[in-house]
Amino acid sequence: MEKTRCLILGGGPAGYTAAIYASRAGLSPVLYEGPEPGGQLMTSTVIENFPGFENGIDATSLMDGMRKQAAAMGADIRRGIVTGADLSRRPFHLTLEGGEVIEAATLIIATGASAKYLGLPSETRFRGLGVSACATCDGFFYRKKDVAVVGGGDTACEEALYLAGLCRKVYMIVRRDVLRASKAMQERVLSRENIEVLWNCNTQEILGDNSGVTGARLLHKDGTVFDIAVDGFFLAIGHHPNSDLFSGWIETDAEGYIVTRGKTTETSLQGVFAAGDVQDPLYRQAVTAAGSGCRAARDAERFLIENNE
Ligand code: NDP
Repeated sequence: MEKTRCLILGGGPAGYTAAIYASRAGLSPVLYEGPEPGGQLMTSTVIENFPGFENGIDATSLMDGMRKQAAAMGADIRRGIVTGADLSRRPFHLTLEGGEVIEAATLIIATGASAKYLGLPSETRFRGLGVSACATCDGFFYRKKDVAVVGGGDTACEEALYLAGLCRKVYMIVRRDVLRASKAMQERVLSRENIEVLWNCNTQEILGDNSGVTGARLLHKDGTVFDIAVDGFFLAIGHHPNSDLFSGWIETDAEGYIVTRGKTTETSLQGVFAAGDVQDPLYRQAVTAAGSGCRAARDAERFLIENNE
C-alpha cells in the first residue's frame, strides 16, 4: 500500500499553497486535486484582488502557476478523487475512485465549498456570461451597470453592498418579506439608495442573448410575473462545504464547515488539518484560502516533529 507523510486533498489555493509549504518542509506531500482542479476560482475570469499582479491575472493562469510552483518544489500532484476515508486511527486510510488505498500520516483537507445555485437551465447557460456566485471576483466587470443579487442572508447583503459601490443599481431578489441577515447588515442595505429590494420574489428565468445576461424574469408571491433588466446576476443563497466524506470522523458545524481550533488549522482529530473554504464560511477569498493552506502545512509539519515521525 502506498504511504505518504502528508496527504493533501483539494486543488484550490489552499491545497496548492499547503503543498508548496509541505514540500519545502521536506514532507514529500501527495496532493489529489479532486473533481474541480483549480477550485471555485475557475468559475471566475480575471482575478484582480490576488496580491502581486498589478494588472490582474486570469484565474486559469493563477491556478496553473500555483500548481506548477507546488510541483517544482517537489509535491506529487495527481488528478484523482478520494471517495472513502477511514480516519479511525493513524495512519489514515483514504480510498480513491479507482479503489486504491493510500496511507497518510497526516491529512490536510482543502476540499473547498461549492456555491449553491437555483437550478435553472438558464443559470447554467449564462454561467460566466453574467451569472456569478462571487461579487468580489466579478463585480468589477459591471461598473456603472445594473445587476441583481439573489438571497437575503449576510452574504447577499455583503455582496449587494459591495456591488452598490460599483454599479448603478442593485436589485436584491428576496423570496420572503424579511431578510435573514443581521440587523446591522439589513440597515445598511435598506438605507443604500441604489439598492432596491424586490420582496417576495423568486427567479423564474435568467434572460439573455449570445453576449450574455440581459435580465431576469421574476415571479411575485401574488402571482405577478415581471422582468427586470440587468447585466449581471449574482447568486448569494449559501454554500455547501465539501466535507461530507469527513463529517462522521471530525467535528463540523451545523452547516457542515469543519471546525478548527483557535488560530490553528487543527481539527477535532489529531493529525487531520483543514484549510480554505471547507472551514471558512466568512472570508472565502483565494488569498485567505492560500494563507490557511500555509498554516495547515506548518501545523502538519509541527505535528510530525512532535510525534518523531
Ligand atoms: P444564509 O443561509 O444565511 O442565507 C441564505 C439566503 O439565501 C437566505 O436569505 C435564504 O432565504 C436565501 N435562499 C436560499 N435558497 C434560496 C433559493 N432557492 N431561492 C432564493 N433564495 C434562497 O447564507 P449566507 O451565505 O448568507 O451566510 C452563511 C453564514 O455566514 C451565516 O451564518 C451568515 O451569518 C455568515 N456570514 C456572516 C457575514 C458577516 O458577519 N459579515 C458575511 C457573510 C456570511 P430564506 O431566508 O428565505 O431562507
